[in-house]
Amino acid sequence: MEVCEICTEEVTKDEMLAMPCGHQFCLDCWRGFAEVTLERGPTCVATTCPQAGCNEIVTEEEISVASPHLLPSFNNYQLRSFVDMNDLTRWCPGPGCTRIAIMRGGGVADSIQVPVECTSCSTEFCLKCGEEPHSPTNCLELARWNEKCKNESETANWILANTKPCPRCSSRIEKNQGCNHMACQQCKNEFCWICLGNWADHGANTGGYYKCNKYDPSGDSTTDNSDAAKAKRELDRYLHYYKRYHAHSEAQKFAKRQLRDTEAKMVLLQESTDNSTWTDVEFLKAATEQLVECRRVLKYTYSYAYYMTDISKKMHKERFEHHQEMLERFTENLSELSEQPIADMDRTDVVNQTRVVDLFLRNILQYVEDGMEED
Ligand SMILES: [Zn+2]
Ligand SMILES: [Zn+2]
Ligand SMILES: [Zn+2]
Ligand SMILES: [Zn+2]
Ligand SMILES: [Zn+2]
Ligand SMILES: [Zn+2]
Repeated sequence: MEVCEICTEEVTKDEMLAMPCGHQFCLDCWRGFAEVTLERGPTCVATTCPQAGCNEIVTEEEISVASPHLLPSFNNYQLRSFVDMNDLTRWCPGPGCTRIAIMRGGGVADSIQVPVECTSCSTEFCLKCGEEPHSPTNCLELARWNEKCKNESETANWILANTKPCPRCSSRIEKNQGCNHMACQQCKNEFCWICLGNWADHGANTGGYYKCNKYDPSGDSTTDNSDAAKAKRELDRYLHYYKRYHAHSEAQKFAKRQLRDTEAKMVLLQESTDNSTWTDVEFLKAATEQLVECRRVLKYTYSYAYYMTDISKKMHKERFEHHQEMLERFTENLSELSEQPIADMDRTDVVNQTRVVDLFLRNILQYVEDGMEED
């Protein structure tokens, strides 16, 4: 006969359960202990031996003998704690998804992001930080940027109302499409939603100086060095980047809706063209998928550029802005093409533009990667 340390009853060896630390208790006491342990919820995985002062962790070994019916939920808590504690694993952020992503291999510490796609719900996310893929901005900058945007949101929202007056005739214009090329119903003025500048200065055909994506501080009274003036300059600088970040974010949402509608559109297009097959109309889906990706990357080129404050990298910044400008220009182009009525759509044109845009997308991401290696 053995004596249980908790209830001091004498029981047979079979009715005792010992921990690896040597402390043993009767099964009755263990059952009660297991109940209480599980009631603690997620922290139950850190429960220690019932013996006061003993730090041996209670594991599934004891739970499975004492209270087998509690084992599944105990295992669940173990898994959750493993994922939460471990930098190399992450829950899929997809709504209702319970998949876990696990990082393989090293060398990810200083990568910009670790993009993965969930095999169950197809959600794309960064394994390092759990946000959507965000290159060229890295995880740390993204966290800072999101924090910044949270703090400035009231100011920014006030400025970014959803309608704007036409820069020529002042009639209110609502933006309801993805592309930033606006046309006023009243006076037919064509302008850029973001800077309100003439659209002709933005076109790919003009070859004119396109500076919509670059922050130009010359508009400020830079000689004024009072704290208030400095704060205003900093806010203006932030808003320059935020406006564009926000516009691409909205356009990304628009493109995602477009993608959902595309399947329906594809059926229409297929029916309207004689002898066409499904693959003949898939170009439209490819174009829209390309748009979603470009908008996402463009969005994060602005959070990236916001943090490019190192004067010694002026050249780097100028080249970056050039890549950004090209990607932006051709994305607007493709955006416009894809919003056309099906009847007006030129397949070859859309296919070509999709390919061109993809090239500019690879270019800017490659440029940032290479730049990191040079540092
Ligand atoms: Zn006992
Ligand atoms: Zn113990
Ligand atoms: Zn998922
Ligand atoms: Zn990340
Ligand atoms: Zn107008
Ligand atoms: Zn503009």
